[in-house]
Amino acid sequence: MSGRASLVLAIESSCDETGVAVVESGRRILAQAVASQIALHAPAGGIVPELAARAHLRWIVPALQEVLATTGVTIGEIDAIAVTAGPGLAGSLLVGIAFAKTLAWAYRRPLVGVNHLEGHLYAAWLLDPGEPERPEPPFPLVALVVSGGHTFLVEMRDHLRYRLLGETVDDAAGEAFDKAGRLLGLGYPGGPEIAAAAARSRARDAVLPRAWLGKSYDFSFSGLKTALRRQVELELAAADRPAAEAGGRLDPARVTELAWGFQEAVVDVLATKTLRAADETAARAVVMGGGVASNVALRERIATGAAARGLPLFVPRPGLCTDNGAMIGAAGWRRFVAGERAGDDLGARPAWPLVRPGGAPDTRRPPRRGTAARAYEIALAAERDGAGGAPVPAARERTP
Ligand code: ADP
Ligand code: MG
Repeated sequence: MSGRASLVLAIESSCDETGVAVVESGRRILAQAVASQIALHAPAGGIVPELAARAHLRWIVPALQEVLATTGVTIGEIDAIAVTAGPGLAGSLLVGIAFAKTLAWAYRRPLVGVNHLEGHLYAAWLLDPGEPERPEPPFPLVALVVSGGHTFLVEMRDHLRYRLLGETVDDAAGEAFDKAGRLLGLGYPGGPEIAAAAARSRARDAVLPRAWLGKSYDFSFSGLKTALRRQVELELAAADRPAAEAGGRLDPARVTELAWGFQEAVVDVLATKTLRAADETAARAVVMGGGVASNVALRERIATGAAARGLPLFVPRPGLCTDNGAMIGAAGWRRFVAGERAGDDLGARPAWPLVRPGGAPDTRRPPRRGTAARAYEIALAAERDGAGGAPVPAARERTP
């Protein structure tokens, strides 16, 4: 690399958002496009993998075109192409990987495979296009990643170095929010719906159980979900209404109270453990990332605790907490500068952990080309068959 800032073109397609971004020196977003599939999966109340892969195929080229048009940058001026290689849905990952590999080959650009979870962490380093410069998070720090598929707490003593402090032993926090939303008869995805309902609650005294798991930094949310289900069933039966699965609904006011109680229980455990980890590791900063990090109650609770300790909190704006391409550009640039390069055998790693318990690096080999090729064929066949019909309405996000 020369003295000039380096540009990374980043591609994210691990789950249900197609994200493309151009990021400068791992920090400054020049432009990004996010095509969300929320409307596509809402009728099913959850992500349908085949539909997700097809929607990525539909939107990945328009997303790239939009980003290039906004920046005026050509692919020839890009220093590296970064793509999410895992974890995520195999068919979805392969769309982004095949696309990135094709661009890298056609334009002779280096390719970097990025762990999606590392992207959620490095979102805290990003700056929006017009945003004033601000300091980077100092090390050592503790980082809480809370998304729809993952919940864990790590210590970082330097870039790209992680020590796993704790992780969920059952549901991810976002998954718990989504399930609770369904139980309460709220819309999809449940996280933002629960947050909105909780904010409307008048009585704030519903108490649901917290799983502390002793002194560990691990999390568990399945007991909480069961407690909520039991509570809803009890109240429905007492009111002589059908069960939740049979369409029975509590009064809207009661739904807001239980949503508040549920959110409190999740936020209490996440915030308490994160702040205790900051104390015990003598952290100099707290970082948050992942879709659930856009939850206002959680942000406020951790912000208050961090401020009381004199620690800066780094949490991306909500649009950068949920899946996006820019975060892959931030993490990918770090990997690129560290000398990492992916070959044309880069495959999807659906269960790729960021770090293993005990802090040992993950050294498993990526799946062989044959597996990746087969899964991609399946995604392509789905596209050819046109299963599902109409193109996906995409909610675009353009950074301000
Ligand atoms: P993944 O990478 O696993 O797809 P994301 O990082 O995109 O997940 O985050 C999506 C998750 O975040 C969903 O489970 C959603 O319910 C949750 N979420 C989004 N906004 C909020 C919020 N305000 N409060 C709680 N959860 C939220
Ligand atoms: Mg994510």
